[in-house]
Amino acid sequence: MKRAMIPGTHVLRQMPAWQEELSRAVTDPAELLQILRLGTGLLPAARAAARVFPLRVPRGYIARMRPGDPADPLLRQVLPLGAELEPVAGFGPDPVGDLAAVAARGVLHKYRGRVLLIATGACAVNCRFCFRRHFPYGGAAAATDRWREALAYIAADDSIAEVILSGGDPLMLADRRLGEFARALAAISHVRRLRLHTRLPIVLPERVDDGLLAWLGGTRLQAVVVVHANHANEIDSTVRAALARLRDGGAALLNQSVLLRGVNDSVVALADLSVALFDAGAQPYYLHLLDRVQGAAHFAVDEAAARALMSDLNARLPGYLVPRLVRELPGAPAKVRLV
Ligand SMILES: *Cc1c(COP(=O)(O)O)cnc(C)c1O
Ligand code: SF4
Repeated sequence: MKRAMIPGTHVLRQMPAWQEELSRAVTDPAELLQILRLGTGLLPAARAAARVFPLRVPRGYIARMRPGDPADPLLRQVLPLGAELEPVAGFGPDPVGDLAAVAARGVLHKYRGRVLLIATGACAVNCRFCFRRHFPYGGAAAATDRWREALAYIAADDSIAEVILSGGDPLMLADRRLGEFARALAAISHVRRLRLHTRLPIVLPERVDDGLLAWLGGTRLQAVVVVHANHANEIDSTVRAALARLRDGGAALLNQSVLLRGVNDSVVALADLSVALFDAGAQPYYLHLLDRVQGAAHFAVDEAAARALMSDLNARLPGYLVPRLVRELPGAPAKVRLV
């Protein structure tokens, strides 16, 4: 009781649970290896690679990894490796031409009828294969000027029916700022859908709380939430509960994955992922070929192997559980469908 009288403490006590969980994320490679009982052999390389792109992973996500297994498919997505530091021909800093597609502050307009907003550069997890790992976010995010430039751009083009909040991860922003954006967007009559591209319901399911559901369910816009899981082990009971809340709140739920060597490059892993997603209420949408970003070459699966995997997957699952294999080509009018 007395603590509430100390100036400032009420602010701390009002921090949503997800933000507390976020602030406890593991950022020290030594701690990650110790939690998973992996010894110290991998530590020097992890430290070196983390200096270029830091380690960051929420504790709840670590809890889904197998202790003692350096090849764990979730660990591989987050553990910095020495291989990241080796330059590989054909892998560069801006593999999908994002910098050329910037139409206004934080606005990428590549495809007809929809724009993608870099809402923020922040993420709850640093995925080692991330195609935006070198994106110069400083000052470039759409939320920086209280969305003014982005909203003006969208209002001025009545061909825009759908607005995608991406990042980084848009759900790293506070609900107050997101609610503000949803209200302003709903006032633009030609906009019909608000889409979120987010990994938070997977890596930090606490994020799907009442504050989020209040603005997402309270808008006239049709909400579409595209989550990002790459392996069935990422989907535990906490994630299933978060996805169920999003669905109950009226959002359409899809998933996009990246095809990653050593994580999900087998027909069994891909089939298990699709089934786990569907059990949790999410429809498999895209399976992306890796964007050729510097530092991620060791995750690449070549196109012939990817096509063969898709044909095996087709022979094993109903059509609605097979994601579309796509790649992004700079300048193309849509994601390019390979299968
Ligand atoms: C991937 C992407 C989209 C979304 O494409 P869909 O095929 O609608 O899922 C939109 N804008 C940009 C800039 C993108 O990179
Ligand atoms: S959550 Fe998405 S944007 Fe963030 S690091 Fe992972 S892949 Fe990149």
